[in-house]
Order: sequence, then structure tokens, then C-alpha cells
Amino acid sequence: MIKVGINGYGTIGRRVADAVRAQSDMTVVGVVKNKPDYVAIEASKMYRVFCASKGSEKAFEDAGIETHGDVESLVDDVDIIVDATPEGQGQKNLDMYKKNGKKVIFQGGEPSNMVEASFNAYSNYVDAWGKDVVRVVSCNTTAMARTVSAVSKAFGAMKVDATIIRRATDPNDSKKGPINAVEPSLSFPSHHGPDLKTVMEIGQVNTVAVKVPTTLMHVHTIKITTEKSLSQEDVTGVFKGYNRILCVSGKLGITSTAQIMDMARERGRKRGDLFEIAVWKESIHAEGNTFRYIQAVHQESDVIPENIDAIRSMMQSMERDESIKETDRSMKLGVN
Ligand code: NAD
Repeated sequence: MIKVGINGYGTIGRRVADAVRAQSDMTVVGVVKNKPDYVAIEASKMYRVFCASKGSEKAFEDAGIETHGDVESLVDDVDIIVDATPEGQGQKNLDMYKKNGKKVIFQGGEPSNMVEASFNAYSNYVDAWGKDVVRVVSCNTTAMARTVSAVSKAFGAMKVDATIIRRATDPNDSKKGPINAVEPSLSFPSHHGPDLKTVMEIGQVNTVAVKVPTTLMHVHTIKITTEKSLSQEDVTGVFKGYNRILCVSGKLGITSTAQIMDMARERGRKRGDLFEIAVWKESIHAEGNTFRYIQAVHQESDVIPENIDAIRSMMQSMERDESIKETDRSMKLGVN
């Protein structure tokens, strides 16, 4: 049984904890909270809660939350830590994990140059094999890596041009924006292009990013130039072969991200999560050796299966295909 600790129990951390709990080969030893808030109260009903800083136990006790020590006592007791603290905090935590000789997975907000490997299950599972410090790439990069690597494996991808329409913030956040503006990223390529290259080999990736006032999902429009020519049916067939890519259709009423999220809720997914990348069938257009498609990304949850696979790769406990299959089975991915 792999003993896992989660440091940072926010959007990503709480989902990783639940996904670890759903595996038969791993267990959640505890989760770290920095505030005794409503999320900590809910966490304490399922997990042992540890405090982010020494001396804050009293504040948790005052809120009626039992604690089991500080973050270092959790680190001491696990095989691997999943760090899901806010962007930049992970980097500050690295020495603590190293000092305790523990493996750690960081999230996409941390820089790629502080880890031994960046990770995506479909594109580079073996790169994390036995490693101590790994980063699961961001929600946007994970989404591109899934569909681009599927296409690349089948037809050889030479060039990617993508526009990333980003949600402003997550649904539980009332502080960030924009709330009435569209905000382009003024650097070209946006950081997503170079980030994709950290998990797959590909000739050229051009990305531009624009932030819009929505909280539900990101949307990508992608154009890929391939080595072999292909048809719309070829591409749809390839996508259907992957559980973490879900083809959706306007004909069935899915014409926007609102209906995709509604579909996830109808499926009874906890928190309305959609771990799969949704690709609109009608958006797939092939012409010679280039084709285009549009995909939607549930930013709060698409990276969760990858965290589970990264744990197994780093712990050398399962080969790629077996791990992906087990994660998909336990999280009910690809089940319509
Ligand atoms: P979040 O703000 O929702 O959660 C972070 C949690 O960590 C919060 O509960 C916060 O209170 C807590 N925290 C703050 N400082 C802490 C500390 N020192 N020790 C322990 N806990 C602390 O953030 P998130 O969206 O879950 O992002 C976490 C990481 O995942 C970031 O690197 C982010 O870039 C990445 N990521 C986020 C998303 C997304 O859409 N939210 C998607 C993919 C990857």
C-alpha cells in the first residue's frame, strides 16, 4: 500500500485525496490545511488533518477540528507527498521534502526547472519512473498533451497551433477577474506552448491565450499539422480509443461548456467533475495533413488522474498501461 500525504487541500488537493482514496493500492495518510475553515471541517470527516504551521493547532481545536500534528509529521509518515499548495508555495516546500527524503509531486503552477520530470500519463509516463521530484503539468497543458499525443501516435504531429480561451478563475473564488473584460496574454507564445514541450517531443507549438469572464471551463481551438493525411473519421476514431478524451456532440444538445458541466452533474460525478477532455465531434475538420478541433477542459479536475498515475510511475509500482487502466476503472473514466 502506497502511503500518500496531500499538502494543500484546495481545488486540486481535495480531488487528489478522493482519487487516492478510490485506489486499492494507495491510502491517504492525511491532508494539510492552513486555515480552520469550512473546507477543513469537511476534510476532517474523511481524513486526518495536519496543520500547515506549528502552533496553529489551537485555532483548529477552537473550530472543533481535531488535528494530528504539523506538516512535517505528515511528511515523516508517508512514501510520497502530493503538493497542491498555491502556485509558488511548492517551491518553498521542496527543501522540507528533500530533508525528509520523501518523493513529491508538484502541480502545474510550479516551474519545470525545479523538477526531475514534468508528467502526463499518455505522453511520457516512463519519464517519471523512479523519480523523486515530478510536476504534473497544468490543466491546459494536460488537455493539450492528451489529444495531441493521441493524434501524434496515430498520424505523427509536426506542428501545433492553439488558441487557449481561459476561464477567469475557479467557481469557489470571488476575488479574481476579469468580470467584464477579455484579457489577452501579451507574450507569444503563451507559456502553454513551451510547457507542452516538457512532456512531449514535437516540432513546433504556437499558442496564444485569452482570459474570459467564466468560471466553468477552458476552451481550446487547435490546429495540428501531421505527417500522414487523415479524415474526420480517422481522427474521431483515434479520440474514441482513449478514455480520457470524450467526444461530445451539438446534436445531443451539447453546444457550450454549460451543457458539458451539466452532463457531468447528470452522470453523478462528485463536485460535477469532468476528468475527461471533451472534444466536439462537429469541430473536427480534416484537410490533407492538417486538421482542426475544439476541446473543453474542466480545469478543476482534468489533472487528477495524472496525479494518480504519477504516483505509480514514481513508486515504480505499475507499468504505464496497467496504471492508466486501473486509474480509469477506479475513477469511472470512459463510462458513458
Ligand atoms: P487553491 O488555492 O484552490 O488551493 C490551495 C490550498 O492550499 C488552499 O486551500 C490554501 O488555503 C492552501 N494553502 C495555502 N498556503 C498553504 C501552505 N503554506 N501549506 C499548506 N496549504 C496551504 O489552489 P489550486 O487551484 O488547488 O492550485 C494548486 C496548484 O495546482 C497550483 O500549482 C495550480 O497552478 C495548480 N493547478 C490548478 C488548477 C486549477 O484550475 N485550479 C488546475 C491545474 C493545476
